[in-house]
Amino acid sequence: MRIGRHARLVGMGIVILAALGCAQDEGNEKPSTTGTPVEPPPEPSADLSRNIQKTGLTIDLSTMTGTAVIDLAGSLTGTGASFEAAGLEIQGVSRAEGPLKWSLAQGQLDVGVPKSQGSAQITIDYKFKEQAQFEGLMAKGSTLVWPTFCGNLFPCHSDPADGTTFELTVTGTPAGMMTLYPPAIGIDVPSYQIAWATGSYTKLDIGTTFQGTHLVAYYLPGGGTDAQNGTAKLVDIMNFYETMLAGYPFGGEAGAIAVDWGATAYGGMEHHPLWHVSTLAMGDPWIQAHEAAHAWFGDGVRPACWEDFVLSEGTVSYLEARAITEVLGADEGTKVWSHYQTRLNKAMAEAASKIAWPEGCGEVDILKDLFGDIAYMKGAFFFRALEAKVGKAKLDPSLKAFFLKHKGKAAHFQDLLDIVKSVAGYDPSACAAAWLRSEAVPAEQVCP
Ligand SMILES: [Zn+2]
Repeated sequence: MRIGRHARLVGMGIVILAALGCAQDEGNEKPSTTGTPVEPPPEPSADLSRNIQKTGLTIDLSTMTGTAVIDLAGSLTGTGASFEAAGLEIQGVSRAEGPLKWSLAQGQLDVGVPKSQGSAQITIDYKFKEQAQFEGLMAKGSTLVWPTFCGNLFPCHSDPADGTTFELTVTGTPAGMMTLYPPAIGIDVPSYQIAWATGSYTKLDIGTTFQGTHLVAYYLPGGGTDAQNGTAKLVDIMNFYETMLAGYPFGGEAGAIAVDWGATAYGGMEHHPLWHVSTLAMGDPWIQAHEAAHAWFGDGVRPACWEDFVLSEGTVSYLEARAITEVLGADEGTKVWSHYQTRLNKAMAEAASKIAWPEGCGEVDILKDLFGDIAYMKGAFFFRALEAKVGKAKLDPSLKAFFLKHKGKAAHFQDLLDIVKSVAGYDPSACAAAWLRSEAVPAEQVCP
């Protein structure tokens, strides 16, 4: 994600929506008694640790209803499965054999799922609604659920450790408009990756990378010039990433969708394979390079804990600068780093924590404790200091090896440091601690 180069989002914070009490207990229907006797479904109980393997969503915009077909990891011990569903009105939960018992309280949907050796597939029918800006479906027709708002759009786990594949179908688009979304995401990704955008879109064909990734952009009325300017070098930028890291992980077509985030929000969100960029930023190749890089860091490999946020944004900010330098030239690269220095200085002058990589897992509040420029900028400068120490010839293969090892999985930032140590032959732990776990900014621009 990249928001706020010119304007910062205000008011982002976790909103605990009141539970939709009217829906409680309506799911406790008796199973069908016809045919072979079926064991009665278990009572609902809480278990947020039950792994979600696949999320198949069918959304109808005309009725604001959704059906989520969710594959859960099997369990021979527990019968509980819980989902975040704070903004949803649950209409029913079932499996192929019949209805399941459920309850909804304080934004959490608990379901009773019969024990199973393999995956258990359950279907959740629900209604959803428009949400405040950046907390689900927005008034202008696009969705954004990062970091913890997926439960306003579909039953989910927002914990990035639990990745899921996705299938998505959206119907009920108003006449004359188009809803853009990926029909499927085939490797495990964080729940914040999925999105759609509805609007009067025009498609721009950008070109194809060496490895065959076809790049596109979609723009809103009046946005054609911005879309062209922002993506003019996108093929080269994607070629840079695909060569440096690995082939694009989300299928044969990728690109940017312009979304109306209002008059002040400048930035984008890593909704690969069709990332979103605010109309204000659509013409900015830096933002496009940033969101494109998230295919590898943040999406393709997701943070195991919110504490590992720097694995996403620090790495991506560094890659953005590398790609811009490579493709648009050294002068433009210098501008990026100069801008980063300004952002770092500004972030250091603010009251918020200066720790980019907190210890622990699952303890920070991502929005209150970490979502600022510290993780982005300290992360970028740490990688630059590391590059200055080991050289691109050793750093780049380290990033590639890390991606290939953890693609489709959750990883800790420490996992990346471990791979740098083995591939580049330099232990970056002390340098990482100085940059990322200290309140200060190291005076040295090169790792010691
Ligand atoms: Zn980002």
